[in-house]
Amino acid sequence: MPQVKDYKDIVGQSVIDELFAIGEKSRDLKIQHVNSTAVGGGVAEILTRLVPMMNELGVQARWDVIKGGEKFFAITKKMHNALHGVPETFTDDDWAHFMEVDRENARSMNFDNNVVFIHDPQPIGLVEQREHLDNKWVWRCHIDFSEPRENVWLFLKDFIERFDGAIFSAPAFSRPLKTKQFLISPSIDPLSDKNKDLSDDFVRDIFDRFGIDRKRPVVTQISRFDYLKDPVGVIKAYRLVKRYIDCQLVLAGGGATDDPEGEKVLSEVREAANGDRDVFVLLLPPSSDVEINALQRGSTVVLQKSLREGFGLTVAEAMWKSRPVIASAVGGIPLQIKHKYNGILTHSIEGTAYWIKQLINEPNYARELARNGKEHIRQNFLITRHLRDYLLLSLSLFHDKDIVYL
Ligand code: UDP
Repeated sequence: MPQVKDYKDIVGQSVIDELFAIGEKSRDLKIQHVNSTAVGGGVAEILTRLVPMMNELGVQARWDVIKGGEKFFAITKKMHNALHGVPETFTDDDWAHFMEVDRENARSMNFDNNVVFIHDPQPIGLVEQREHLDNKWVWRCHIDFSEPRENVWLFLKDFIERFDGAIFSAPAFSRPLKTKQFLISPSIDPLSDKNKDLSDDFVRDIFDRFGIDRKRPVVTQISRFDYLKDPVGVIKAYRLVKRYIDCQLVLAGGGATDDPEGEKVLSEVREAANGDRDVFVLLLPPSSDVEINALQRGSTVVLQKSLREGFGLTVAEAMWKSRPVIASAVGGIPLQIKHKYNGILTHSIEGTAYWIKQLINEPNYARELARNGKEHIRQNFLITRHLRDYLLLSLSLFHDKDIVYL
C-alpha cells in the first residue's frame, strides 16, 4: 500500500511536508469514521485510503461499518432517493425500524474517540450516543442535497443539528441549519489500483478479455446500476450517436451492499440494450479496481450522465486518466468540470449524444479538454488535499477560534 511520501512526485514535496506537520499537531487525535458499506460506492472508496493514511501520520483512526437487514437498506435507499428529490413515502414503521437498527448497532459499538465522523444518513441515529460522551461529532454528507424532499429532510434535520458540524461536498448543498457547516470536496487516490498508471499492454488485455474492439470508438460509463446514474439514458444517447458513428458502449458497474435496487436496474439496462453486440453491460465484482482503471483509461470518451450526484468520483477518476469526460451538470460535477475548458457539461440525452459525436470527431479538442482536466484534478481533488482538510477540521473543533494556526 502506498505511503504518504510516495505522493511527492504527483503533488510536490511541500504538500507532503505540510501533511506531516499537521500530523504532528494531530497526534493526540482519535478519529472514528462510521458508514454503512465496506465496499461499493464513493464513500467506501475514499475511506479505504483515508483511514490508513491518517494512521500513518500518527492519528489513531478507525473505520466501523454498521449492519442492517434488507428492510433497513430498503428504507435507507428510499431516504437516499428522497434526499435526491425523488418522491418517496415513509410509514411510521419505516422511521421506527430505522431507529431500531441504529440503536441496535450503537449497543455493539464503541465511540471512545475524540472525533466521530458519521457518513451519510444510514448511521445518523448513532448521534443519540453523544449525550453520554464528551467528544465531537460531525455528519459527513456525500449526497446531492440541493432539493431534498420535505419528509426526509425534517426527519434528518433533527439529527443533523445534534452534531458539532456538518460537511457537504458542494456549496449548493448547504442549508439553513443550527449546526456549523463545512465544505470539503471528495477526492481520488492517484496511487490506488483504481487510478495508478497502467501499461498499454495491460489496458489492451483487459479490453480483449471483455471482447471490446479498441479500433472503434469506445464510450464508457462506470457506475453502480442505479436509476440516478441514468444508464438507460446513456443507452439512448449511444443510439443517437450510433446512427452516424460506428462506436461501442460500455456500461460497467457492480452493486453496493447498502443498495438493494441494483438488480432491478441491471435487468432494465439489459432489456434496453436489446442484444446489441456493441453494448457491453458488464457486471463487475467488488475487486475490479484495475479493470475499472483500464476501462476508463482505454475509452475514447467517458460519460457520467447522472440525474443527481453527490460528487461523482468517477468523473475525477476519468479526468485524472486524461480522458475527455461528458457529464451532467448536477450535484458536485460542475465543481470538477468547467464546461468546454476541461470537460463537457450536458443537460439532456440529445446534448450528451451531440457532444459524444463532437469529441469523437475532434480528437485534438478532446485531448485539450483532457489535459486541462487532469491538471484540475491534480490541483483540487487528490487524496492529499482531502486528508489535510479532515485533519484541519478535526483540530479546529477543539479551538474556540475559527482559524487553526500551524
Ligand atoms: N465503482 C466501483 N465498482 C463499480 C462501480 C463503481 O468500484 O462497479 C467505484 C467508482 O470507480 C467510484 C465509486 O465506486 O470510485 C463511485 O463513486 P461515485 O461518487 O461516482 O458514485 P456513488 O456510487 O458514490 O454514488
